[in-house]
Amino acid sequence: MSNSIISTLKKKVSKKTWDNWFSTFELKEVEEEKVVFSVANLFIKDWLQTKYGGAISDSIAEHLGKKIPFEIIYKNKAMPSEDSTGPQTSGSLLKRKPLMISNLNPEYTFGNFVVGSENKALYEVALDVAQSPGKYNPFFVYGGVGLGKTHLLQAIAQETMSNFPDKKVLYITSEQFMNDMIQSIKENNIQKFRDHYRKKSDILLIDDIQFLIGKKGVQNEFFHSFNELHDSGKQLIICSDRNPEELETFHSRLKSRFQMGMLMSIQEPQPSTRFHIAKQLAQRESVSLPDDVAKVLADNIDGNLRRLRGAIIKLIVHSSVFRSQIDLSLATQILQSFTGSVNVPVSQRPIDQIYSAIEKIMKVTRKEIESGSRSKDIVLARQLTMYILKNHFGKQVTEIARETGKQHSTVIHSVKKIDKSVMMGKGATKLLFDDIMGIISSSSAAV
Ligand code: ADP
Ligand code: MG
Repeated sequence: MSNSIISTLKKKVSKKTWDNWFSTFELKEVEEEKVVFSVANLFIKDWLQTKYGGAISDSIAEHLGKKIPFEIIYKNKAMPSEDSTGPQTSGSLLKRKPLMISNLNPEYTFGNFVVGSENKALYEVALDVAQSPGKYNPFFVYGGVGLGKTHLLQAIAQETMSNFPDKKVLYITSEQFMNDMIQSIKENNIQKFRDHYRKKSDILLIDDIQFLIGKKGVQNEFFHSFNELHDSGKQLIICSDRNPEELETFHSRLKSRFQMGMLMSIQEPQPSTRFHIAKQLAQRESVSLPDDVAKVLADNIDGNLRRLRGAIIKLIVHSSVFRSQIDLSLATQILQSFTGSVNVPVSQRPIDQIYSAIEKIMKVTRKEIESGSRSKDIVLARQLTMYILKNHFGKQVTEIARETGKQHSTVIHSVKKIDKSVMMGKGATKLLFDDIMGIISSSSAAV
């Protein structure tokens, strides 16, 4: 009789649906008040209940002659044959997508990962994982944005691939995992999805697991993939922007799985490490960053290395578009737009650079510029100072007024006046401006 319930049900759905969803579905018990089925996956359990509840009820009624409620229970490892890593019977499923390794960034290698004292231990464990998969399982890395988690994860993926060419390495973000899962459900193909993750990877790397917060169904699916891989000794590497404890809505059993291997945090690099990272990031773009520029960037941009990289790219683009050198003055200017204020050594302050260049070119001293003199040269020197502070160093009017000890309105008027001459490429003023700028650029490069 029990077999008839199952076989009736089987006739009610398409073969594809059956293969995809009902492959672990079994009749457990027929009681007086209910019929109990079991299934090997929590997510499937919910899905069958909502999608095929009607068909299941009808099959029961046809065979028992009355409507009896049913229950589907989740039975872990109900189907050992499905879980085995031996030859599969699912034929075509095996030939699906090869490895999903194509979206690894070739620059995210161990060689390109600068190690400071703050992340030395982490780096070594990561390298160890890539040399001895399974040793620390799972390997869970967490830390803030832009600290290098994705870089490290992909470095492990690439290193493992080169150490063990036969191992199948699968790197994916948890968002991709979810999208794949949804897609497979749409296509009635959840089994294919499962095989892909559970049977076809020897090393599974999942990035940004925090994305699954609030997505219970996907968490459950992931839980089973995790267990199956872990039980068969496959290496799992997971990263997150927070500690497993702080993964809200994650079931405690999943959180505790995350903690049972090696749990490590990634630390914000100190300025000295950031200095080397800055040089390295530029090197990746085939640009050699002068030490003073790398230092000012490292000192002014916090640990978020995406911002550091952003500033370096901006520097490189700016210097190639305007054919200017990458120097302290350009770096200071770009940093302004990133941080609002920049700490540069006192002797390198923009205003000092301008005063000393003006003195060389125009023979007007700082003292004269800061005086109330209305002499023509001095007024021009003053106006040029203000203009360069504003347009070249990106200073605010208020700041310029404070630094030069002049009125707000004077600053605005001066900037406008010089702007006109420079924009129109007008005579002497433009020539003076170019000469002053030439000195500013070369003097800051020489520091
Ligand atoms: P996360 O995933 O933690 O947000 P990423 O791995 O995306 O951070 O890193 C941001 C950028 O910083 C990437 O370009 C990466 O290559 C670079 N980066 C991070 N850490 C290092 C490091 N230690 N050495 C060199 N580059 C690094
Ligand atoms: Mg990342």
